[in-house]
Amino acid sequence: MAEAKVAIIGAGPAGISAAVQLKRYKINSIIFEKRKIGGLVENAHRIENTMLFPNGISGKEFVKILEDYVKKYNLKIVYEEVKKVNKADNFILKTKKGNYEFEYLIIATGTRPKKLPFRGIKYHVTEINPCKKLLIIGGGDIAFDYALSARKICKDITILYRSNIKALPVLVDEVNGKGIRVIKGEIKSIEDNIAITTIGKLQFDEILAAIGRVPNVEIVEGIASSKMFVIGDAKNGIYRQTSLAIADGVKVGMKIWRMMRYGDTEGDW
Ligand SMILES: Cc1cc2nc3c(=O)[nH]c(=O)nc-3n(C[C@H](O)[C@H](O)[C@H](O)COP(=O)(O)OP(=O)(O)OC[C@H]3O[C@@H](n4cnc5c(N)ncnc54)[C@H](O)[C@@H]3O)c2cc1C
Repeated sequence: MAEAKVAIIGAGPAGISAAVQLKRYKINSIIFEKRKIGGLVENAHRIENTMLFPNGISGKEFVKILEDYVKKYNLKIVYEEVKKVNKADNFILKTKKGNYEFEYLIIATGTRPKKLPFRGIKYHVTEINPCKKLLIIGGGDIAFDYALSARKICKDITILYRSNIKALPVLVDEVNGKGIRVIKGEIKSIEDNIAITTIGKLQFDEILAAIGRVPNVEIVEGIASSKMFVIGDAKNGIYRQTSLAIADGVKVGMKIWRMMRYGDTEGDW
């Protein structure tokens, strides 16, 4: 892959934005993606806080736009999971198929869900089947957003939250007007299709949890380099937002261009 000096891991909003910005400087990059273009955003019911979409935009429409960028800028995507990165003079990316070497590395790997210790729970709304009774565990934005998405395929929806509702007030209002039950309680175990909780037994045929997320950064653990950049949800802690991921992509593209052109190592990152 001698044609590119920059590797980007992750084809979500952050990774695509970085690749587009680099391309505008005529810098080719290679994006490694283990699943498909779009990342987490495909799960979003409606994104309203990313500017330029005053009427909001669904997660799926958003993914379509990212796909259009990939086509327009002729971005190169290698559909392989990066299992580990080693640093010698350059970065060596290890996948099942082999090793790839790059001078610059952008980590746009996003996050993965925190898991509950029970079997049968799903963590992304795109994974659930049409159902009669859906139980959602969690009290944050994602749990409430999942409930709104799931209305298209599930009749009876309950959100079970443990301590506080942390979701955006506008999401809570939207859920409240839609006949979705919101109950305070904690799940203790699951027996077949029944959740045993602190407020009694809750029957379900699909169960979904959204109890927080952790960054996917283990593949670069122990590596520190001025030529490696962690961007988007993988670095933004609780501030996991599409606009911030896109902004990170633009910024890293500018930074790498300056480093290549002027040897610029100044400026914060
Ligand atoms: C239900 C829901 C609703 C949301 N609503 C909003 C909203 O209204 N507004 C808003 O701004 N944001 C919203 N978000 C958040 C938004 O989706 C994220 O902020 C955004 O997707 C982050 O982009 P990213 O590129 O940093 O990471 P991601 O989108 O997570 O992309 C990371 C990519 O990296 C790939 N990857 C990971 N590890 C590897 C590896 N080792 N090798 C190869 N590929 C790898 C993944 O497959 C993935 O495609 C919502 C999220 C959810 C789940």
